[in-house]
Amino acid sequence: MESVDVIVVGAGIAGLTTARELLKQDPTLKVLVLEGKDRVGGRTLTVNVQTANHTGDKFDMGGQWVGRTQKELLALLDELKIELYEQYETGRKKAQLGNEKIRSYTASLPIFAAGSFTLYEVIDFVRNIFRMNRMSNKINVLDAFSWEGAVAADEQSVASFARSIALTRSARDALDIGMRAVYGAEAKRMSLLYHLLYCKSGGSFMDLIEATGDGAQAFRIKGGSQQISLKMAEALGDRVRLRSGVRHIETSEGGPTRVTLLNGEKLECKRLVLAIPPNQCGLVEFSPPLGYLKRRLYDNMTPGHLIKFVVTYKSSFWRADGNSGEIISAGRTTIPGEILPIVCSYDATTSNGCPAIVGFIHAELHDWTMNERCNAVVKDLVRFFGSKALSEFIAYEEKNWNKEPFNGGCPVDYVTPGNMDAFMTIRDMHYGVHFAGTETALVWMGYMSGAVESGKRAANEVLHALGLRERVDHKYLKGSQFSVEYHHPHPPNDHYVDYTSPWRRRLFFGTALVFGIYAVSKKYDLSYTARVFRPVEKSVFKWWTGMEWPH
Ligand SMILES: Cc1cc2nc3c(=O)[nH]c(=O)nc-3n(C[C@H](O)[C@H](O)[C@H](O)COP(=O)(O)OP(=O)(O)OC[C@H]3O[C@@H](n4cnc5c(N)ncnc54)[C@H](O)[C@@H]3O)c2cc1C
Repeated sequence: MESVDVIVVGAGIAGLTTARELLKQDPTLKVLVLEGKDRVGGRTLTVNVQTANHTGDKFDMGGQWVGRTQKELLALLDELKIELYEQYETGRKKAQLGNEKIRSYTASLPIFAAGSFTLYEVIDFVRNIFRMNRMSNKINVLDAFSWEGAVAADEQSVASFARSIALTRSARDALDIGMRAVYGAEAKRMSLLYHLLYCKSGGSFMDLIEATGDGAQAFRIKGGSQQISLKMAEALGDRVRLRSGVRHIETSEGGPTRVTLLNGEKLECKRLVLAIPPNQCGLVEFSPPLGYLKRRLYDNMTPGHLIKFVVTYKSSFWRADGNSGEIISAGRTTIPGEILPIVCSYDATTSNGCPAIVGFIHAELHDWTMNERCNAVVKDLVRFFGSKALSEFIAYEEKNWNKEPFNGGCPVDYVTPGNMDAFMTIRDMHYGVHFAGTETALVWMGYMSGAVESGKRAANEVLHALGLRERVDHKYLKGSQFSVEYHHPHPPNDHYVDYTSPWRRRLFFGTALVFGIYAVSKKYDLSYTARVFRPVEKSVFKWWTGMEWPH
């Protein structure tokens, strides 16, 4: 049986970063990266699409945007000499929220577009966003349960929370679209606590959805994001083995860890890093079996389901018409049975100037053929940008990540309500097995930057476990069981603490106080208070008896 020091499973950004970091710290280590697919890059995939210049150009069908605060990714791009360019943002944006009307705005988000939305809608948007930001600011990503509202937040879905705070259909639609665009998931399926933790990990909810400022969609990668993995894999050479899906892992305390591949081949190592999405970890057999919380985690962490599309055009006609190319749509329609596919879109004109629009499609269209989806997308683009969206059309390309082997969905895995105690074990080791992958990151979890951070943490854990402690960079052990600050976060024991809003109590006591003052003023005939209450008395009397107040 072939034996090495470290096996890394998964040749996405996380796995390749792990291998790269290990060899940087100790080039003598024998490291092997096992990848199930016939390509590297995982959830990043750059393809050639026919464009206006007839030669075609490169478009990202997976991870694409880079934000200003995604420091780990920016540093890696710098090392790999990969360049960025800005996301085009100039001009009007289009939103269809609350009803079938399409509204235009130029603010960074519709919540700031007072001219296009009613004041009531804008106040509702702003109120909800600030409330969510206030809650997520209280979260400690290392210990979500240290926040007093954590248990109650984990018991509800993002949708039930939205229903309890949003006053307008537009605000609820905006939140639903945000959930679909960020996680590819419906708000009703996600733990509110997970969403708050995810927002904190990226900065704030606004940072997850914005293309300006510290937003996640500020830049794009020249030549596509798959280059990151291709360049790392090239440097690793024959240490990367494709078509080597792992089926079974046998591990023990202090002993070697053995893996069995899908083709039956067996390999042995001192430490193993599983750098694959949580839903895929759940498909691997472990001996001894995973602990209760880790098992429940993989049973309840599920991938989003979006389809990404790119449409190329003869010209950037939307720019010429004063539009930025950005759309957010709830897909509301008055035609029964009609499904409007686009959740959101952006200008995707390449760094070579080839015009295109990129966007995401609702999960409901999964069972349609690609041709049907193409027609529906172009028809929807005509709704927003006019007839040129059809007449200037060149080509349509899409990627349905649900059909991708060793992946299962797009863009990330999320936690269903009631399972955040299990989620807090995501970085915990299982004997000789370490866990990497973007979902295990502390900063920008779910993004390419999170994948880099997780790879560095896993590499440093392995160096620590192999006894190479002088090579460990302790900054990257944050959140690891090897960190000196590590404690296992768990929900508070007193489940019966009243987490309901204090406003109900305040309203009750406030009303009782007003009635008390009224009763005392009546009993002792206090003229000043009687004067204050008189208009209310008159209205109630008129409403109750239908007669005028007797003078
Ligand atoms: C459509 C889409 C859009 C996105 N947009 C953005 C964006 O704009 N910006 C951003 O930062 N991020 C974005 N993301 C997320 C980003 O792509 C991911 O966070 C990142 O690529 C995850 O890297 P990873 O290495 O953690 O996991 P993955 O990329 O999933 O890599 C895991 C690897 O493990 C392999 N594998 C799985 N199971 C096994 C097994 N049993 N045996 C062997 N190999 C296995 C897989 O084949 C895969 O190659 C997007 C993702 C998608 C899908």
